[in-house]
Formats: sequence, structure tokens, C-alpha cells
Amino acid sequence: MKKTLILFLLSLFFLILFPNTGHASASQAKIILDGTELTMPANAQVTIINKTVMIPIRVVAENLNFKVTWDQKSQRVQIQNDTNLISLTVNKKEAMVAEKQISLQVAPQILNNTTVVPLRFVSENMGLTVGWDNTNKIVSLASSNSVGDRGEGEEYVESVKHVNDMYFADNQLVVSLDSEVKPSITTLDNPHRIVVDIPNTTFSNSFNSSQTLDTNLKGTLEVSGYSNVSEVRYSLFSRDPQIVRIVLVTNNENTFEFQQNEYNSNTFVIDVTEAEDSVVPLPPADDSERKTVVIDPGHGGSDSGTVGITNKFEKDFTLALSLKIEALLLNEPKINVVMTRDSDVYPTRSERVVLANQLEADVFVSIHGNSVLASPQASGTETYYYQRSSSKDLANVVHKHLVEALGFKDRGVKDGNFQVIRETTMPAVLLEIGFLSNRLEEAAMFSESVQDKAAQAIVDGIKEYLGI
Ligand SMILES: [Zn+2]
Repeated sequence: MKKTLILFLLSLFFLILFPNTGHASASQAKIILDGTELTMPANAQVTIINKTVMIPIRVVAENLNFKVTWDQKSQRVQIQNDTNLISLTVNKKEAMVAEKQISLQVAPQILNNTTVVPLRFVSENMGLTVGWDNTNKIVSLASSNSVGDRGEGEEYVESVKHVNDMYFADNQLVVSLDSEVKPSITTLDNPHRIVVDIPNTTFSNSFNSSQTLDTNLKGTLEVSGYSNVSEVRYSLFSRDPQIVRIVLVTNNENTFEFQQNEYNSNTFVIDVTEAEDSVVPLPPADDSERKTVVIDPGHGGSDSGTVGITNKFEKDFTLALSLKIEALLLNEPKINVVMTRDSDVYPTRSERVVLANQLEADVFVSIHGNSVLASPQASGTETYYYQRSSSKDLANVVHKHLVEALGFKDRGVKDGNFQVIRETTMPAVLLEIGFLSNRLEEAAMFSESVQDKAAQAIVDGIKEYLGI
């Protein structure tokens, strides 16, 4: 198929909604076109205006080899593709596509001398499949000739992926595949639903043993007791190319968060926790002389984290150690300790960040266990900070105490881009205490005595950093 302009039925309205409101910059957002990240000119950026994702049209159109012209006087952008002319005017919601007038959700705007248009316009009028990953700020675009449309003699190299399992729990849809895949997620209204399309994917043979598939390769997940999600259904939506589609029917609003599992990139999570549910209660007002320390046991609930060499879960290690840290900090007269979780539940990473930032905590410590299944001899302690020098100072001090106390290999203090240490605003560290994929370290990390030593070392480090 050529890059022809496809006009969708007018009734087919893709409205992409976000938790963000107003005019928010998503300047770090990336645009991925047919699997390749576009190089964006310095002045071009993805922006959210009135809950609508706006993308710089010129960079996209030019990468599709469409001809783009700009008329300064009339403030008009014209895009000529193989067959049609698209004409857009800045600040006008009316646009012309193939000599027909259509109406945009948000008028094109000029930002930094470049024109941005709603992402939805691109999907409806330029024959592209679009997706927006609000967590990672990634716009994904697929031109229609890139998906499974292969000419004669053209080799089709991408292998088909398989969904092994999926379930819905804790307001999260968890989908496990046999390889990493980026779903395209859109939202629809009347009724509200979140549509997750997994490209080039079908169900594995074992899927049917965990969830049912009828003869039409359709099924539904057990969902009850959730206020916002009333139904989750899945199907092999398309056979050529193969696309698994999952539809979450929601009662209120289509806000969701996409997360790839930190350690197993073959698993992804769509979190539909409602905004009201994610408000974290503030602890009682306390003596302002005290420093607030947030301890974050990694993972929990539906997110097991990594799985150790004897199948122990990272989430259980992080909770056990964190509870010991909490117990020690509760004895500290100058410290308030706040836990992001103290049981086997899964606050999203955003919720953990929001909690620490709302508290204006003085220190944030996220507890994890490492894993490299491919090399079971890998071992040692590593400590991550993200850019801020205050975080680096905290990392150095806590790391020193941990390595001294545990005697694990010193893998060093590293700059790492993890959400909980990136988006928190106070000194924040992420500790990879040791390797659960290493038989000796896994055994040690689950032992009371090593956990006691690690807890004391972390508390000593926090106190040294705070000067108390
Ligand atoms: Zn972890």
C-alpha cells in the first residue's frame, strides 16, 4: 500500500486524554516513526494543549517524504503527499483535506517558529497509526505501509511475538509476552475505554491454559470489585498482520499509566488507578526539627520485581529489609520515617514520587535487589543517584556503609536514570543491595543477620548524611 491519505469515518473519533491539564510542555518527548526515533530540530517539541498531544508537523511530514510548504502571510501549512493536499492554518480549527473541510480538536499553533498540530489529526488524515505513552513521553507513529504490508520478494524478518499471560489485579492490567514489545494505546469515549494494541503479536499455545480463548480467539478477564474498570476483553484483533487487542472498559475517565517492568521488559503494566485513589495521606504534622526520611521498598503486590535463583521474589526482600530500616529509624528522635508501602501492595512509581515530594522529604531511599540471570556469578552492591549532587553525596555515604557492613563486591556509585530518583526533588538514592540471581547473595539477602546489617548500615549512612 502506498502512503495514501486515509480519511477515517467522521464518527471515528480518537480522543487522547491525559491526566495533564492546560498547556503542559512535554519537551523531552520523543517521536518514534516506524520504529526509528526522529531527530528533532532544536525548536521542535511535543506539547500538550487542552489535554491534546500536539506534534510538530513539519518534522513528521518530511520524514514521510511528504512535501511541506509554509506561507508566512496566510499562516498556512500545506502538506502534499502522494495523492492529496492537506492545508492547515495556524489558530484555525478548520482544515482542508483533499478539498473537504474538516474540524480539528485544537487549532494548529506556532511554538518556537514551528507549527504543532493535534496527534489525532495525524492519525485521521495522514494514514498513520498513532500512540502516546504518557509515562515515557513517547509519540509512536506507524505509517500504514510499515505494518505487515510486504511486497513480493521482500523478506519479512520480524518474528511474531506471543502473549503468554495476562491478568487484572490492583487496578492494573499486567501482560507478559515472550519478547519486548511496545503496545500502541489509545482511548475512546461512549463508553470510556482504553484500547491496547500489541503489534505483530498473537496468543501463545500456553495462553489458553491460564486464560480462556474461544474459537474466535476472544476472551475476557475476571474483573470485579473495581470502581473504574468494569470489563477487560481481549482478542486476536487482526490476523494479517497479527495484532492482539485488549480493551479495558472504564466507568469514569480514561487515565492510565504505561509501565514496562523494570527488570523483565517482556512484561508491561497498564495502571488505571483513579486519581482519587492515588492521593497519599500525609502523616500527622510533627516536630519541624525532625528530618523526614522516605523508605521505598521496591515493587510489591502485582509487581514481584526480579525473581531470584531459587525463585524468591525481589518484592519480599525489599519489604523485609525496609521494615527493618523503619524499625531502626523509629528509634531516632530526630527522624520521621515514612514508608511508600509496608505490606505486599504496589504503589505506582509515580505515587511513590508524589508522596516524597508532597512531604518535602529530606531523604528518599529506594531499596532493590539486582539480577542478571544470564550470569549467575554476578555479585555485589551498587548505589544509584540521578544527576543531583545532593543525591550523589547521599549515595556515596550510604554506599560506603553498605559495602563495609555486608562485604559484598563494591560495584560502585553510579548515575542512573530511574523514575523514583529522577522525579523526586530531594536527595534520593536507589540501592541495589546485591544480586538475587547469585545463589550465595540471594541466600544472604534473605537471611535475618544480613538484613539486620544492611538496615543498620543504611540508617548509619542516612544519619551521617543528615549530620545527626
Ligand atoms: Zn527492583
